[in-house]
Amino acid sequence: MKKLLYLFLILITAACQSREQPKQEWALALHGGAGNMDKTKFSEADIKSYENALKEALEIGKSALADGQSSLDVVEMVVRNLEDNPLFNAGKGSVFTNDGRNELDAAIMDGRNLNAGAVAGVGDIRNPVSAARLVMEQSPHVLLIGKGASLYASQNGIELVDSSYFYTEKRWQLLQRSLQKAGKNGTVGCVALDKDGNLAAATSTGGMNNKRYGRVGDVPIIGAGTYANNNTCAVSATGHGEYYIRFTVAHDISALMEYKGVSLNDAAKAVVNGKLSNEAGNGGVIAVDKNGNITLEMNSTGMFRGWANADGEEGVAIFK
Ligand code: ASP
Repeated sequence: MKKLLYLFLILITAACQSREQPKQEWALALHGGAGNMDKTKFSEADIKSYENALKEALEIGKSALADGQSSLDVVEMVVRNLEDNPLFNAGKGSVFTNDGRNELDAAIMDGRNLNAGAVAGVGDIRNPVSAARLVMEQSPHVLLIGKGASLYASQNGIELVDSSYFYTEKRWQLLQRSLQKAGKNGTVGCVALDKDGNLAAATSTGGMNNKRYGRVGDVPIIGAGTYANNNTCAVSATGHGEYYIRFTVAHDISALMEYKGVSLNDAAKAVVNGKLSNEAGNGGVIAVDKNGNITLEMNSTGMFRGWANADGEEGVAIFK
């Protein structure tokens, strides 16, 4: 009798738990960077073009996930689209270092097996996220940098471009302005849960405007700006990278879930608006958990972002 009662209790608890968190068939979130954005400095036309760019990337991810494509393919595809868009600080729209170069970082992670790949400080790879995937899948390493990364990428069919490809007038002027005052951040990223229950994350960036030649940020550091684990969540961060490295932001969110059973939302809040702050670690994260819950958490006044799930909930937004 006692045994039966015990069994009954276990069944009830399991039923309650599964009702608590409806499982999405698939879910997706993306970002195009965060920072202290002043809405009054954006024209209506600027806002429209950012929103359209976010929608375009969201559409690519949504239809691929709905078609049953893997989260790994989807995060790469979405980030490539954002890298090719000069509006965002990654790939084509990357910011300049203090001495006028473009040095790009990117990472990708597969939540199924904790495989990860990254490239840092590259100046001639058109889509660094694909080079990161190459490092993950074809090399025995996790992180390749600079010329070594470019050589490996070109030997394996990844498109190289002349460094002038990354020149955009807008970013050049931004450097000129910030040579007098503080820098600015921005990045792109995507996290996804696919129909097979696999999570993946990818992040790509030009880094921080006016950074020192040779500086590497959080993006290619697994556990700092990028992390995915099928047991917990997938995270892509954007913000002042030095803090994200020191506070191992993406892994902390996953660890709170894994070791303490904290929900995705609470974990992201505790890290982004607890451990980090607008002054120390300005920025945010996008994350999706194994049940398809999505979090878009920031401590800054804006983050270019988009989200969608199989239930048809979706949107894009810029300001907090
Ligand atoms: N986290 C990036 C870096 O520090 C920049 C950003 O996301 O704004 O390189």
